[in-house]
Parts: sequence; C-alpha cells; structure tokens
Amino acid sequence: MEKGNTITFSKNVFIPLTRLCRDHCGYCTFKIEPGEGELFIPPEEVINTARNGASLGCTELLFVTGDKPELKYPIYRDGLSKLGYGTTAEYLTAMSEAGLRENIFPHTNMGVAKCEELAALRETNASMGLMLETISERLLRKGEAHYRSPDKVPKLRLRTTEYAGELRIAWTSGILVGIGETLEERIDSLFAIKRLSDKYGHIQEIIIQNFNPKQGIIMEKHLPAGFLDMIKTVSVARLIFGKRMNIQIPPNLNSKTFPLFILAGANDLGGVSPITIDYVNPEAPWPQVERMERSLGELGFTLKERLPIYPEFIGEEFLSNKVLERVKGFVDSSGYVAT
Ligand code: SF4
Repeated sequence: MEKGNTITFSKNVFIPLTRLCRDHCGYCTFKIEPGEGELFIPPEEVINTARNGASLGCTELLFVTGDKPELKYPIYRDGLSKLGYGTTAEYLTAMSEAGLRENIFPHTNMGVAKCEELAALRETNASMGLMLETISERLLRKGEAHYRSPDKVPKLRLRTTEYAGELRIAWTSGILVGIGETLEERIDSLFAIKRLSDKYGHIQEIIIQNFNPKQGIIMEKHLPAGFLDMIKTVSVARLIFGKRMNIQIPPNLNSKTFPLFILAGANDLGGVSPITIDYVNPEAPWPQVERMERSLGELGFTLKERLPIYPEFIGEEFLSNKVLERVKGFVDSSGYVAT
C-alpha cells in the first residue's frame, strides 16, 4: 500500500509493565533495580490505565518490559508468582487479555521471546515488536553499548523476528543510530531486517531511532546521533525498503525537525500519548497532535490516525479472530481510525 501524502500516528498509553531487566545497555534510561521503584505495575493499575486511555480515545496499549528480569531477580520472581505467573511473558499475556477487554489494542515489546510466548500474545495483540537495534556483534564487547547485554546478541533478535514471521504477527523492527555502530554496520542492520521482511512479509514498520546522551547512563559522555546522519539514514532506509514500507521517526526525539524527516522519506510518527510519558525517553515530551498536523499540512501532508496495526495488515492473516472483530469496529473502509 503506497501512502502518498499520508503520514500516520497512533494514540497510545504506555505501560512499562516491569522496568527490571537482566541487560546493561549503555544508553538505557528505562531499567531500574529492585528498590528504585515498583517491581511491576500491578494488574489493577494496568486495567485502570487501559480503561482511562480507551475513554480518552487511545487505541494502542503499549506494553514495554525489561528483558527477562525473572532470570536475575528472585524478588521479582516471587512477586510474579504471588500473582500466579511464572514469567514476564505470562504476565504480559494476562494483561494483554485484560487490556483488550477494555477496548484498547495491546502492542507488546518484551525483548527476545520464545515462539510459544509470541503465539500466546498473538491472541490478544494487534501487533508486536522488537527493534533489531544493530546487527553488530562488535557492540557486545567491553566498553561498547551492548556489553553485558545477552539479549542484544543480533542472532537472537533476528530469531525472535523470524518466529513472528512464522506466526504471522504484524511486526515492528528498527535500528538505533549513534550507539557506536559504523556506517557499514548501520546499513547492514537495515539489510538484515530487509531480508526477513522479504522472506516473511510481516514487518509493518521500521523505526529509525536516534541515540541521545542523558545524565546517569553509561554512555552519558557519548555524542548524540547527528542530525544529518539521521536524515541520511532515513533516506537510505526508504531506498532499501521501497515505497510500501512504513518508516517511523519518533517525533518526541525530533520535536523541531520531524517535518524534515518526512521530506527525507519517513511516513509515520509512531505512538503519541495524551496521558502517559515516554518511559524510554522520559525527558522528551510528546508533541501535540494539532501541532504535528499543522506542521505537516504546511508541507502538503495529511496526518491520519492508525491503529497499532497498519491498514495493509488488517485481516485474518495477521490478527486473531477476537482482535479482528474488535478492529473492524474502529476503522473506516481504508483501515485508518474512523473519525
Ligand atoms: S534491554 Fe532495554 S531495558 Fe534492558 S538495559 Fe537494554 S535498553 Fe534497558
């Protein structure tokens, strides 16, 4: 589906179901240790946030977690088991079911996952995602961004992406720009995603996300991703993936410059939340939808709201029956959110 002058976004609520994580990425601002905050968001709070979001017109319930904290923290494992769950994936599955009942569509980012975990989540999730981030194994070495981060082994992330292809899950992937990768590695990362997209046809969007240093992170002294580097990366991604791929640029990380990224080839602005912050980039407030609409309108583009699944993926192939039935009640004949 070619998008022409249409630029999309979705209205979401962000639920950082657990911020514990067994990895140590150099750019991370999401992860906390036990004692620095709650071990996980309890079910009642998830349901209230989902209900609140749905009542404000949000259609995406974005679940983000650290990667496999149950393998590292006994206190977290005990807390989960008191709720009746053995793993983060089981808790996510239950909360996705609860969220869908509130008439909002789950989109889960849980990190590297097993095939059976994704299959369980598929029942209630409209789409899911895992950024490849980088194909570079060099960045796993001491002193690099993914040192002591076993879930950042590129092969594992590609394998999870393949499981999603086999299961017919509309999938979000993407890369991080400026985390120490070379230009060649960055392009190789895009081609690695392209190979899986060509093989399975399930990649619905590619996020091109820029690294920004923040106080307190391991990489706080590193330079941010350069603006021109980002523009070039978006253009090259458009050339590699062709006209039909959705290329997303996070507007809160590029609040002044996002229209330029649209001119360079991006066509999606991701999830914007009226009620929750971006827990992965808490310093970056969401731009207002009206402002995005105005800026894009001046350049001749039209902003349209989409669900967490893009119009071209809506159908029996990529959605369970119970999700598809609900989706039909939300979209117009072109697959965008009905106004
Ligand atoms: S996997 Fe995610 S949450 Fe865990 S340290 Fe890395 S960036 Fe942070």
